[in-house]
Amino acid sequence: MNNLAPKLTSEEYEKNFAEIHPPFTPNSAAAEANRCLYCFDSPCMKACPTHIDISTFIKKIASGNLKGSAKTILSANWIALTCAKACPVEVLCEGACVYNARGEDPIQIGRLQRYVMDWYVERGMPPIFTPAPKNGKSVGIVGAGPAGIACAAELSLMGYGVTVYEAKSEPGGLDTWGIAPYKMKREDSLNEAKMVERLGATIKTGMRVGDNISLDDLIRKHDAIFLGVGLRTPTRLRIPGEELAGVHDALTFIERVTTRKWSSVDVGKRVAVVGAGNTAIDAVTEAKRLGAEQVMIIYRRSSEEMSAYDFEFELAKIDGVTFHFLTTPKRILGTGHVGAIECVRMKLGAMDADGKRSAEPIPNSEFQIPIDMVITAVGQTPEKSFLAQIPNLKMDRGNVWVNPETYQTSSPKFFAGGDCINGGKEVVNAAADGKKAAHGIDNFIMSNE
Ligand SMILES: Cc1cc2nc3c(=O)[nH]c(=O)nc-3n(C[C@H](O)[C@H](O)[C@H](O)COP(=O)(O)OP(=O)(O)OC[C@H]3O[C@@H](n4cnc5c(N)ncnc54)[C@H](O)[C@@H]3O)c2cc1C
Repeated sequence: MNNLAPKLTSEEYEKNFAEIHPPFTPNSAAAEANRCLYCFDSPCMKACPTHIDISTFIKKIASGNLKGSAKTILSANWIALTCAKACPVEVLCEGACVYNARGEDPIQIGRLQRYVMDWYVERGMPPIFTPAPKNGKSVGIVGAGPAGIACAAELSLMGYGVTVYEAKSEPGGLDTWGIAPYKMKREDSLNEAKMVERLGATIKTGMRVGDNISLDDLIRKHDAIFLGVGLRTPTRLRIPGEELAGVHDALTFIERVTTRKWSSVDVGKRVAVVGAGNTAIDAVTEAKRLGAEQVMIIYRRSSEEMSAYDFEFELAKIDGVTFHFLTTPKRILGTGHVGAIECVRMKLGAMDADGKRSAEPIPNSEFQIPIDMVITAVGQTPEKSFLAQIPNLKMDRGNVWVNPETYQTSSPKFFAGGDCINGGKEVVNAAADGKKAAHGIDNFIMSNE
């Protein structure tokens, strides 16, 4: 890269990537637990896609029964440690807390859940569930992200023989390779995978289905297959200059940051991130934390339309990110390496099919911004070439179609969940899908007996 930001000291990296939500002490957890009103209709529980019995797990913290609390949490959500640290609680459980309506701070449900799950992990994750005796049936799971791990855990508990095939060298999916290091550590995600192995599931890493093992082999070996393959194909900008050195897709950049080998990740002095979703915000704040001097977001619509959560937007502003709204890149300029980005100003028009206002370029409004690095974060799609190998697999607007009750796809032996069916939501949605799909698979296999 031409114009690299200087490397930081290891202390500076540690400081920049320090956790943004530190853990509770035992006293502060007890005090917070005792604030809970234990509402009879638990709006927080309804707001959580996995429907954790939040009042009950908090009550158990208040009475000092942390193992019981962990059991309450895990019986609803196998990805509870990651969710405790990375869930957008502001718009889910904590957003639904009745204290909000009273003008008071909501119960810090995420931090309380984290308190319990950290306690459980620190004690070596002692067994709290007893899997049913083996039923002689086997399920193959493609992808060890949160959807695959949750599905594997639930099926293992029901007595199924479960093998998870994971392309990467370590399990966890984006929980291991994508979530910002100042929210959680990759060990948290690896511990969740360990928990599933302890329930009897086998996780085979470095096994890309369709490459290291064929789909036909999987179909022969297993009574049903769950697809938790996520979204691996980055959407391209399709503008001149995208092939220049110094242009990166957000997932590749973020993946390198999550390995925590920060000094090995080169970052430009001036970094432009194209897009305004949560991935774009993560990429831009991570670039800043790596030492970039100027970081900016380029987005074709206004702040009203951006899909990033408000609290992520606020975090980026605190980190000194400049926002170029109503701006879209037209071409990336440079000789061999990116040196500037040419943009055009946009204006908003009528609502389009996605329910967002359309954005149209303003003629002759081009301008250039000198930059050293471009990160593209305009979305990802499922890997079409892999999915095309599955017989009769129906897609719906680019995602895998499933029956919303059973999570069965149009190819009867295949079930699916997580990002590959919803186009990219949150960990908690993937965790909920994986668990529900396990029950769909159980019904399918047992009714075909
Ligand atoms: C940068 C980024 C930051 C995020 N931050 C947050 C956050 O803070 N909080 C939050 O709640 N959500 C966050 N999300 C969203 C969240 O990570 C995803 O919704 C969630 O991980 C989806 O889980 P999944 O199991 O469907 O897919 P993934 O996590 O993508 O896992 C899919 C797995 O399948 C494997 N795989 C794919 N194809 C094959 C194959 N052919 N053979 C074998 N294995 C295969 C992949 O290697 C991968 O490990 C973030 C997403 C991104 C991109």
